[in-house]
This record gives sequence, C-alpha cells and structure tokens, in this order.
Amino acid sequence: MSKSIRYNIALPIIIVILIIQLALGGFYAYYFNKVIYETIRDDLLTTARFIALSLSEDNLQSEDGLNHKISQWATLFSVRITVINDQGSIIGDSGSRPQYDETYLELPEVIKAKTQEYGIDQRRSNETRIDTLYIALPIKNGNQTERIVRVAVPLTKFHTEQTQLFMTLGGVILLSTILITVLIINVSQLATRPIEKLTKSISKLSQQGFSSDWKPDVADLERNDEVGRLTFAFNYLTEQLQNQIEALEYERNKISAVLQEMTDGVLIIDKEGTIQLINPAVKKMLNLDGVNLIGKSIMQALDYPHFIELWQRVCNSKETQSALIEIQPKKLYIQCSAVPLEQVSEGSVLMILQNLTRQRYLETVRRDFISNISHELRTPLASLKALTETLQEGALEDPPAARKFLLQIEVEVDSLSHMVSELLELSRIESGQVPLRLRPASPVEILEKVVERLGLQAERAGVEVISNFSPLTPNVLADPQRLEEVLGNLFHNAIKFTPRGGKITLSVRPEGDQVLFSVEDTGVGIPAEDLPRIFERFYKADRARASGGTGLGLAIAKHVVEAHGGIIWAESIEKKGSTFYFLIPKG
Ligand code: ADP
Repeated sequence: MSKSIRYNIALPIIIVILIIQLALGGFYAYYFNKVIYETIRDDLLTTARFIALSLSEDNLQSEDGLNHKISQWATLFSVRITVINDQGSIIGDSGSRPQYDETYLELPEVIKAKTQEYGIDQRRSNETRIDTLYIALPIKNGNQTERIVRVAVPLTKFHTEQTQLFMTLGGVILLSTILITVLIINVSQLATRPIEKLTKSISKLSQQGFSSDWKPDVADLERNDEVGRLTFAFNYLTEQLQNQIEALEYERNKISAVLQEMTDGVLIIDKEGTIQLINPAVKKMLNLDGVNLIGKSIMQALDYPHFIELWQRVCNSKETQSALIEIQPKKLYIQCSAVPLEQVSEGSVLMILQNLTRQRYLETVRRDFISNISHELRTPLASLKALTETLQEGALEDPPAARKFLLQIEVEVDSLSHMVSELLELSRIESGQVPLRLRPASPVEILEKVVERLGLQAERAGVEVISNFSPLTPNVLADPQRLEEVLGNLFHNAIKFTPRGGKITLSVRPEGDQVLFSVEDTGVGIPAEDLPRIFERFYKADRARASGGTGLGLAIAKHVVEAHGGIIWAESIEKKGSTFYFLIPKG
C-alpha cells in the first residue's frame, strides 16, 4: 500500500482504465480480424462460385482449353484455381501441379464440397509453405458431382493486415494509457498538492517549532474551494498557536528571569521525588554550582536530611510546612518553606529556601555591638560614679586627694570623649561625610612618618622595629593623613600585642597596579575564630577586654582603606604573630 494519497487515488484509476483499454483493444482486434477474414473468405467464395458457374456453362472438355481459362481467371482474381474430377485427379490447375501423388478427394474442403454447398479449409500449403485459404465447390450435372473446382488464396496479405491491426491497436492502447496515466497523476497531484504542502508545513512545525523565519502559506488562500478554506483554517490555527506560544514563552522567560535573579532558592519536586525545577540561588546556597540536578532524585541531589525530612512531611500531611535548617559545619541558616502543589501536579512540592545566614550574622554583630559598647561605657562610668561618690563622701574636704580624684575624673571623661569622637568619626566615614583629599603620595614617606611618630613608643615597649621598602616604590593616590592614621593604628596594635623582645616589620612594595602596605609582628596572634570579625566595631579578640583601646581602630582603618578603593585583611597564627595588609591603588 502506497503511503501517498496521490498514488492511492491514481493507481486504481490507472488499473481500471488499463483493463478497459485492454478489453476494448481485444474486442476490436477480434472484431476487425473477423471482418477482414470474412471479407477474404466471401470474396474467395464469390470467385469460386463464378468459376464453378462459368465452368458448368462452358463445359470445356479439352484440358488445354480448361487450363487456359482458369489461368486467365487466376490472374484476374489473384487466386489459384484447381479443377478436380470425381476420381480426385487434377484436370486443370492454374499453378504448377503437385509432385506427389495425392488424391484430392481426401482434402478437407473437397470432402465437405461433396456433401455440402461448398467446402472451406485453412492450412499451410504443402507446396508454398504459406498459410492458405481453400474453398471447393462442386460442379454438378443433375445430382451428380462431375467436377470440383477449388480456389485457393494465400493469407499473407491477411496476416500483414492482421499484424498492422494489432500493432495499431497496441500502439493506441499504449499511447492512450501513457497519456491517461500522466493526466491522472497530474490531476491527482493537483488535488493532493495542497494536502502535501499542509502536511509538510505541519511536520516542519512539529519538528522545528515556530522558527523566526516561519511564515504561513498564502499560495492557496485565493482558491475558493475546500483547499482554500483548509489553508485559511490551517493558517489561522497556526497563527493562534504561534501567538499563544509566544505569549507563553514571554511568560516563561519572565518567570525564568525572576527565578534566575532572585536570591531565594526555589525547588519543585514531583511525587517521585525527582527535581523538576531548581534555581541558581539553591545551588549557590548549598554549594552545588555547575551540577545539573534536574531529573535527579532529591535524596541523591541534596545530601541534607533536614530538607528530605521536610519534603516527606509535606508529602504525608499535604500541608505547608516550614523549618529553620542549620547546616553545620558551614554555619548556614536556611529558612525553608515547603508547599504542596496539588493544583499544579499531584504530589508535587514547592520548596522555598531563604538564606538567613547573613541576617543571623548581622544579628550577632548587633548583639555583640550593644554588649561591647555597654561594656566600654560601663567601666569609665562606674569609675566616674565611684570618684564622685568618694568626693561627696568627704574627699572634697581633703584638697590634695580631691585634686587627684578630679584628675582621674578628667582621664575617664577624656577616654569617654575619645571613644565618642572615634564612634562619630566612624559613622561619618561610613556615611561618606569625610571627604578624602586624594593626591599622589609617597608610601615610603607615610611609612617613615609613622615609624618616627611611634618609634619611641616601640622602643619603650622593648620591640625591634624594621622598615622594609624600596625607594623606588611608586606613589599612591591617597589622602596621606588618613593613610598615616591607618598605618599608625596597625603599628600601634602591633606594639600593644607584641611582648617585649618581639619584632615588628613595616613594609611597602608595589603589587601590580597597587601598593601593598604590611605590618608584621611576632606578638600574641589572633585566634582563628576571631580573625574574620576583628574589623567589626568594638570587636576585641581578647574576651576580657583587658587590653586598652575601644575596638574601633580596625573598623575605622577598614573604612578608610575601602574609601581609597583598596582592601584590608589580616593573617595570624595564635602565639606566633599577626600580619595586617592593605592595598592602595597607585597614584
Ligand atoms: P583596639 O582599640 O582594641 O586595639 P582595634 O580595632 O584596633 O581595637 O583591634 C581590634 C582587636 O583586634 C583588638 O582588640 C585585638 O584583640 C585584635 N588585634 C588587633 N591587632 C592585633 C595584633 N597586632 N595582634 C593581636 N591582636 C590584634
């Protein structure tokens, strides 16, 4: 069975027409063959009758006279004439007499002629070897058959005409069949072409979708028939479909952009536990960047039992569940809400992950800040209270003691006002209210000034100071006074936290398109857990807060360095020493 509707239409029609053609051809061949044959036979019979009649009337007795006569007739009618007597012997023949001794009485046409009006036979002549038609007629005298006249005509011409007839008919059948086949194929093609075009369009659509160069077919739209209407309906349908797909795509792109950009993690899991959707935020949160998790089981993909437990709870209860999940040792705090998505797909669950780590951290910072600032204020305030109470309780009466207490009060008030001014400065730097006077400044000069300013203090503390720099160090683009404060603060801390006999190395060196400042000491070092937090306001590594200082110095340094477009960091090994670095862009 052909796959094409065109062949399904054309083939049966061609077969039927071929059968009809063959039947008609067969009939005509048979009919005309018969007509030609009968014409030859009737002509021959008429000739035979004429000869028989003439012979019976002439009653020629001499053989020569007979032969002469029949020779004339034979030439005239283009036949061979043989006259046989009642014994079967030839008494006259227009052709050559047969060589063999044959009795003509046994020839089929002669046998028939003896009993019937005439005898007829068709066979191959023994002499000429040509298919020949024979007709024999009796010449009677009363009831007695005296002689028999036999007329023979070769059927060569008949066979030639027969061949011509068959060839003409065959040619007509062949030609008409070819013409009809071509016509039918063309007509069926005309009828099926629009269907084929539509089929092609549909299969192209189903394979490639609506590509940007896709256009509806308009060629057949003008036709005012079923094809035109079908084409119009198809075009309308595809246009609608295209619009809907575009609208859906737009919506999908919008949702996908939101999912891509949002900081909350979104995860959809189907009833089998397979991940159907996961946005980059989830991967970022759980350190799964670059892993394709779509289609994977949640059990394998998320190696966190809390999530799986939450998902199972939602699957069982079909109700929204949420939990604050703490992932150790990464110290991640994730608020996870799991919602059943029954209306979307049975058994599906939507999980929304909110990373609360930063909030948690900020909460801790705020808590610590309040506790630290209270602590910082409490000590001088307690001391002030004690001093004023002592004065009230009688110390005022003792002027030398009163003066001593007043001096102490002044020290405490100075320390408080120092702290307040540092805090104010920090908040002004943070809010960008302190303008930097940027200009190319020599890092070596800054370093030398700091060493000069604090050198004596280091000497008193019994620590060795080494300055390490190349005079060719390029300038930095900075507010030199502010950088001196930063470097001075780091140097001051190094002196403070380095026991007697220790060593402090201050250096500057170019680092790409920046200059690296560093202060290295062999002091007490900073515990690893405190290292990330020492740049926070009021943060002190020493919990007892026994060391002097407010804990604001590094916070100010960090803001100043960042205002210059640089970065600051510290490396430290407890009990071995610390190194503080900061980078400032070249001037
Ligand atoms: P402080 O006024 O307390 O020195 P900073 O902000 O300058 O405040 O320093 C914060 C904390 O960082 C200090 O209290 C100390 O615990 C730690 N720290 C700073 N520099 C060093 C250092 N060179 N060696 C050890 N600890 C240090």
